[in-house]
Amino acid sequence: MTTTISAYAAFERGGPVRPWTYEQRDAREHDVRVEVAYCGICHTDLHSIGPWGRSFPLVPGHELVGRVTETGSAVTAHRVGDLVAVGPVVDSCGQCPPCVAGQETMCFTVATATYDAEDRQGDGPTRGGFAEQVIVHERFAYRVPDGLDPAAVAPLLCAGSTVFTPLRHWGAGPGKTVGVIGIGGLGHLGVKFARALGAHVVAFTTSAAKVEDALALGAHDVVLSSDPERMAAQANRFDLLLDTVPAVHPMTPYMLTLAPGGTLCSVGLPASFDVAPFAMVVGRRSLATGGAGGTAETREMLDFSAEHRITADIEIIGPDDINAGLKRLEANDVKYRFVIDMARTRSEH
Ligand code: NAP
Repeated sequence: MTTTISAYAAFERGGPVRPWTYEQRDAREHDVRVEVAYCGICHTDLHSIGPWGRSFPLVPGHELVGRVTETGSAVTAHRVGDLVAVGPVVDSCGQCPPCVAGQETMCFTVATATYDAEDRQGDGPTRGGFAEQVIVHERFAYRVPDGLDPAAVAPLLCAGSTVFTPLRHWGAGPGKTVGVIGIGGLGHLGVKFARALGAHVVAFTTSAAKVEDALALGAHDVVLSSDPERMAAQANRFDLLLDTVPAVHPMTPYMLTLAPGGTLCSVGLPASFDVAPFAMVVGRRSLATGGAGGTAETREMLDFSAEHRITADIEIIGPDDINAGLKRLEANDVKYRFVIDMARTRSEH
């Protein structure tokens, strides 16, 4: 038996999303079914509807919050009615060393993505949170911290985790100078987390209109990257740079701002890295990458967010506005994350 789910799907590469219904598999013994209340729009959704998409129709969405409506027979972590959040992973092997360590995004068999991936047990493609419901292994449903706005928690599950995990890995904290490049969905949370972790934080932006915002988000200083004098003045000072830019861009000017031994961690998934090796050799600088954390790191991020009252700055839209939201995201016109109020789907259908 399957369940008919109302969703919003892209039907062809680069096309708009449109209402769609599909047949969802049943929850297995360790699964929970989640009625989606809110789903963030990540820049990855744009890439997936565009060049990265593998199979269409494609239902995006991997930053969601909702209520558990069904639990499989062996589920112990959640009960019907619980408010949970789901990120970019819905399953993994659970056996390999990274999975056992709670670092499932590094699963040796490749963790199952929330959408546009194959279900591990052959039950068809996974479909994301631009929908009324999703099914997820109980391990990958996280309790939403009390007292935080659930809509603004949703983006923490991908954008938040993707910046918090490298900040923790590279020891952002007191005595460290951290630069955040690109003040978008990921970057604005990077600034908030780095500041709350105790680092000295500098935001790099291409947008003059974001300078005041970046200070309000917690940056101690903001550098407009188009200003060569201000860029040159940053030489040799950063312990860590978190680069969230989604496109290929010159990275050498940023590499030169790293202190000796510093690390530029690119989480923005550009198609390639445009950096001069010589800028790395001098100063023994490193280029690194990273992504969203596994269950242990995600839980730590949510606990830290609850303690420091950190959520995303969001603009809530209805499902009818998803295409407009995607266009505005592409045009760098969002402060700082669109979140879809999926409940409006239910009231409209
Ligand atoms: P976003 O909201 O669009 O923010 C990206 C920011 O980068 C923009 O706000 C802009 O900031 C800056 N920017 C954009 N285009 C640029 C260009 N051509 N040159 C220089 N700066 C530019 O996107 P997001 O949701 O934060 O995602 C950012 C990237 O991270 C995407 O490619 C996404 O797929 C990737 N991502 C990776 C992971 C992972 O696991 N590694 C997880 C989630 C997302 P300013 O206006 O301040 O310059």
